[in-house]
Amino acid sequence: MPVPLRQLFDYLPAEIAMLHHAGQRVVVPFGRRKLVGVIVEVSDRSELPLDKLAAVIDYPDGEQTVFTGEVLDLLKWCWRYYKHAPGEVIFNALPPLLRKIGKMIPPAPLQYCMTSAGESRLQEPVGRIKAQIALLQEIHEGAVTEHRLRSFTPAWRKTLARLLEQQWVQAEPQQAPGLSPSPGPPLLDEQRLAVDSISSSLGAFNCHLLDGITGSGKTEVYLQVLEQVLGKGGQALLLVPEIGLTPQLVNRFTQRLGFEPVVTHSGLSEGQRLQVWAMARSGLARLVIGTRSALFLPMPDLELIILDEEHDASFKQQDGFRYSSRDVAVKRAAGLAIPVILGTATPSLETFNNAMGNRYRWNRLRQRATGAAEPRWRVLDLIQQSMTGGISATAMKAIGETLAKGEQALIFLNRRGYAPVILCHECGWHAVCQDCDTNMTWHKASRRLLCHHCDNAARVPAVCPACSADALQGAGEGTEQLEQVLNRAFPETPLLRFDRDSVRKKGEFERLATQVKSGEPSLLVGTQMLAKGHHFPMVTLVVIVNLDQALYSADFRALERMGQLMVQVAGRAGRDQLPGEVILQTHYPQHESLLTLLTSGYEAFAGDIREDRQAACLPPFSYQALLRSDALQKDDVMHFLDHAKQCFPAGEAVIYGPFPAMMERRSGRTRWYLLVQANERLGLHRQLDEWVLQVQKLPSARKVRWSIDVDPQDY
Ligand code: ADP
Ligand code: ZN
Ligand code: ZN
Repeated sequence: MPVPLRQLFDYLPAEIAMLHHAGQRVVVPFGRRKLVGVIVEVSDRSELPLDKLAAVIDYPDGEQTVFTGEVLDLLKWCWRYYKHAPGEVIFNALPPLLRKIGKMIPPAPLQYCMTSAGESRLQEPVGRIKAQIALLQEIHEGAVTEHRLRSFTPAWRKTLARLLEQQWVQAEPQQAPGLSPSPGPPLLDEQRLAVDSISSSLGAFNCHLLDGITGSGKTEVYLQVLEQVLGKGGQALLLVPEIGLTPQLVNRFTQRLGFEPVVTHSGLSEGQRLQVWAMARSGLARLVIGTRSALFLPMPDLELIILDEEHDASFKQQDGFRYSSRDVAVKRAAGLAIPVILGTATPSLETFNNAMGNRYRWNRLRQRATGAAEPRWRVLDLIQQSMTGGISATAMKAIGETLAKGEQALIFLNRRGYAPVILCHECGWHAVCQDCDTNMTWHKASRRLLCHHCDNAARVPAVCPACSADALQGAGEGTEQLEQVLNRAFPETPLLRFDRDSVRKKGEFERLATQVKSGEPSLLVGTQMLAKGHHFPMVTLVVIVNLDQALYSADFRALERMGQLMVQVAGRAGRDQLPGEVILQTHYPQHESLLTLLTSGYEAFAGDIREDRQAACLPPFSYQALLRSDALQKDDVMHFLDHAKQCFPAGEAVIYGPFPAMMERRSGRTRWYLLVQANERLGLHRQLDEWVLQVQKLPSARKVRWSIDVDPQDY
């Protein structure tokens, strides 16, 4: 049942003669309501007495199931592993329209083809049925799907009905699109090795790390393996981060494979999501490209899973059912005995460690496929620099030289707005969010102060609200300020800003990207929106304005993420024939990890972090889970966590805390957590299972929101 309770519910069949299957939808009474539920198991006994059991009211899809045994097993594993309510796990995997009463599994889509009667009709004069004959001509060219008909004529339903009536055309189940691949470039040796290694493992579980620098041709490797899988009639699933799912990417697959992949992401309507789900389930969708949630699509012929940018944080769902789509993808591949490819230029430490331990096959691509050289790094010590709005004099000079050569420069700063703080130079007052432990960001153009963690917004005060002095100023920089500074320095050059404030509308990113690709000298300013996947051939200079925060962060993953981001951003420079340069501005040019990354590369950098983690017994050398809790009243949170800590069962895993969340107060709620850590996964899970049973019985649990986060990524 779609409720946040960690349990299953027993029901009687509507009729004893009815066949029941795991994965079938039912409508049942639940309290005073009627709800859709999904059968998880069929059993001949219950812990409840017969007279306490209600009966199923309806079977909306008859005997059809919404989950194959394979997906259902995966979901069961998920709720056990993530200690989450089964109903929420199950319903998270269903298209929204099937969660409600009233919708059914859509029938298999049809296509229409000619009959011999139709062929003879075409020999005759058109007569007065122009529209019908036009449609008949279209179908004569080849079978036509309903999807195509829709774009053919608005009145297609009526016209088609006439054709069917005359038996000039007939309906048949829609066929999966044929593969007509166009050849790719001849592979480089490293690519060939990777393709061979993956191909040879088709039909068995294998986890492949495809560890290739940006521009090394990872996508080309996917394409070659996909050709083989799809050519044999298999289905494949490609998961990408939300930000990486661009029309360009989809076009590339369409062009090379010769058919349109089915694309799914959070922006689709409920109707579209149901359609995608049905296409996947019927096998009509040969290749699905999607974000996180596509992982649970039913695909009866699934033979390959690819996760691009496996290190990306968006693969972890951060609220509700908190799962890692990377880890569940590996689990799904194992259950199906198929290979999974994890592609990235910057493996996460978890994946890196699995490759080190030979649990994953490690395929390295260290050459750029286009033959371009890797960009050169230049580190600027900010102590010795004079600065204008966050940009050093040396960087400013380099930008000028790049533009003078007719090339493009990219300025990266992962902070939007004009300034992260607005403060009074008389009394030190600064604007903070009333509901979060954070400063309000100054957005100068829209004359507003915004909290980036909740929806709070305010007008910028004209004078200091504390002392009335006319002394309010920004401290620090955001992308909006960089734009202003650079416009002033290079008034002739077009400047394109890429952040969530400037790129709001659908298609806006593509419009800007096309302008960049036209190649005229220009400046690109942006946040991590610019860090991923885009190929801008004329960008030869990248300036990283400031990443220092991460070097001394309390979050043990901050350094790893900083390295990943640096490499991704640097990868934008000089992807084509022109050599690239990356300027890093920092106050800590001697930081050891930074030096390793710049002089020896990401693999050495990750190797060092791995050793540090091992020495400190941190993941991936230990396993963690959090009990998170938040409430309006801090006392409620503290009582609950104290009680929860007291009932933690004895065992190998140790419990620490309570600790305040990194941002203790957010949207008016106080957030704390308990941390459980163990060196061994099995023991940890045994204790967690026992613990959750106790925790949900606690009276103090009713006054807070709480959740378990297994393998947490943030704190
Ligand atoms: P990645 O996904 O690793 O960033 P891509 O697959 O996008 O790399 O390849 C980068 C560029 O190199 C693309 O323009 C691609 O067409 C080209 N490319 C890839 N493989 C080859 C090859 N073997 N020979 C020539 N060009 C290639
Ligand atoms: Zn003041
Ligand atoms: Zn806030």
